[in-house]
Amino acid sequence: MSKGNLKEKLKEIQKDIPIEEGSLATYVGLIEVQEEAKGFYAEKFRDIDVEKVQEGFKEGKPAFLSLPLEISEEDIEKAYAAVTGYLSESLPETREPIARIEESRKTGELRLKELSDALFAGDEEHVHGVAERVGVDPEILEAVIAWSLQPIFQALSDAVSSKVDFSTWTSGRCPVCGGPTKLEYVDAGGHAHLRCQFCGTEWGYPEGKCPYCGNSDRKTVVEIPVKGEDKFKLMVCYKCGGYWKVVDERVVGGGVPRELYDIWSFRLDLLATGGER
Ligand SMILES: [Zn+2]
Ligand SMILES: [Zn+2]
Repeated sequence: MSKGNLKEKLKEIQKDIPIEEGSLATYVGLIEVQEEAKGFYAEKFRDIDVEKVQEGFKEGKPAFLSLPLEISEEDIEKAYAAVTGYLSESLPETREPIARIEESRKTGELRLKELSDALFAGDEEHVHGVAERVGVDPEILEAVIAWSLQPIFQALSDAVSSKVDFSTWTSGRCPVCGGPTKLEYVDAGGHAHLRCQFCGTEWGYPEGKCPYCGNSDRKTVVEIPVKGEDKFKLMVCYKCGGYWKVVDERVVGGGVPRELYDIWSFRLDLLATGGER
């Protein structure tokens, strides 16, 4: 997707999204910046070991755990610079925390690599501890790190998706980054896929099967009717309590880039989490 294109597309679907226009444009702008930053890493993942990934799949391991990724501080720095540059420019309230992160990086109090390892190990406490020490809102620090890692994993996703067959991957978690997702789409041919909200990987997954716990009992996996909604379906699993959203391309067509599906169907998140009045 070329730069500027998503913002153009956003205009067509803006009316469907209950988010204030300016914030929405900022969010989509960030997706574009990340899309561009992804280019830094295309070379890095050119020669991934396909066999190793397939072997890992047999043990239920996502690609990033099977491959020696060797992501360095300098690697993360590139996307981090693009992301923080964009944020400081578009969201003035992020300038101060970003300046503080920068200072702490200079003194060596804060290392991007260390924080990204902690995030991937699910050790949010560590990230919050660092945030407290350097005086930055933990949520902002966590978001900045996650947003800086996204382009790296999106590049990995491109590399893996172009070479590896996902048909042996049966999990509802992402075969590349291992993350959960609440986004499903049905293609023009009627085949259902999950799409990872973190790295963008898409893989086949049976319709009506819960992506979190694998339950496919029709009595406990049900569609929640949403008044006035004809584009998207809201699914709930009563076994694990999770919900997910389905974008049916036989209904909405193929004109909107899938990068925008999550935000396009944001109204369903509000409904599912009780945010809509
Ligand atoms: Zn992923
Ligand atoms: Zn479930």
